[in-house]
Amino acid sequence: MIVAIDGPAGSGKSTTAHAIADRCNLTFLDTGAMYRAVTWRCLDAGVDVSDDDAVSAVAERARIEFGKSADGQTVSIDGRDVTRQIRTPEVDRNVSVVSAYPRVREAMVARQRELGSAGDVVAEGRDIGTVVFPNAEVKVFLTADAAARAHRRAVQREGGDAGCDAGAKADAAEEQQILRDLVRRDKLDSSRKESPLKPAADAHMIDNSALTPEQVVQQIVDLMEA
Ligand code: C5P
Repeated sequence: MIVAIDGPAGSGKSTTAHAIADRCNLTFLDTGAMYRAVTWRCLDAGVDVSDDDAVSAVAERARIEFGKSADGQTVSIDGRDVTRQIRTPEVDRNVSVVSAYPRVREAMVARQRELGSAGDVVAEGRDIGTVVFPNAEVKVFLTADAAARAHRRAVQREGGDAGCDAGAKADAAEEQQILRDLVRRDKLDSSRKESPLKPAADAHMIDNSALTPEQVVQQIVDLMEA
């Protein structure tokens, strides 16, 4: 069984995919973490992210592994645990440039298929239902309005776990900055030539702006059981 969950930044893919993985005993595959890890590696090594060849060479050589810790899933690249480092605003700002390079995508998609071939998987990203696993049994495209997505990200960054809870508190100025970054990233991800962010023709669209995390998970479990 493969469950593909795609959608824009902050749409709740991660919260949802984690919950599905736990509840249905599937392996969670966070493909965004892989593009983030390559971006972090380039920034750390002083590689110019506007240099397609140099960035692609990093991606093609990279060894990306997922692991587990008491706090949840970990990700490492070339032996370095970068679970926390890949969530910084600097990585946020550069990842869409890195992920637009065709050779980077080719290398990541190959690794994702390899990881996915190990068994039952819930994978989240931007091109899971369209490119990585076009034969996935269940495809979902999650959306939420941009303000709700920015709010969740801001609360998460302050250490809260907003999930899809619109009531939690966050700093207003930071939230505005997150909103601008998020809108910019969505624009880049949707307008790139290679595998742009878009729903698969057979994806189920779920707008979770006004849904609780549990309601979203239940809708997907219902699709899996249908
Ligand atoms: O989901 P997350 O916000 O961690 O993704 C980070 C970035 O990685 C996205 O903005 C996008 O540029 C890229 N990405 C992608 N394809 C995927 C997953 C993520 O291009 N399947």
